Amino acid sequence: MKVPKKNNMKKQQFISDYVVYDDEKELDPKDAELLRQAHEATQNSYAPYSKFHVGAAVRLANGIVIRGNNIENAAYPSGLCAERVTLFAAQAQYPDVPVEAIALTAQSEHSEVNEPIAPCGACRQVMVETEQRSGRPMRVICQGHTGPIMVFDGIETLMPFIFVDKYL
Ligand SMILES: [Zn+2]
Repeated sequence: MKVPKKNNMKKQQFISDYVVYDDEKELDPKDAELLRQAHEATQNSYAPYSKFHVGAAVRLANGIVIRGNNIENAAYPSGLCAERVTLFAAQAQYPDVPVEAIALTAQSEHSEVNEPIAPCGACRQVMVETEQRSGRPMRVICQGHTGPIMVFDGIETLMPFIFVDKYL
């Protein structure tokens, strides 16, 4: 895009680093297992409206894995994404244990999901604060029902210009 040059204007870039794997076998074994659990978690999804079943699995620093899924509601905003269901459940049960990684996957009743799904903006915002609370980067592992896997080492690569408590 051609941007007209004005005095003192600086054009800047945000660069996001992430890794794409073609196959689960290429992942770190612990991450492959987390992804497998996220796939299983899609089976408990309650998505009668969107027919889009999302599963998530969170691995804590103590090795415990918490699974969750999206839960919809006839009053649409009352439902919640799989990522937030799972991250909140993990932090409610283990408030002092850092979150190492989250894996998410999806299946649709309408079509084959063969590319990685990414968390929505609201879930990314929750991931930012989860990471801050944990005091370490959280790995985000994304896949569809099949196909490639995207891995982000830390939420900042998924969520530039984060809103954090220092602004409050
Ligand atoms: Zn979300």
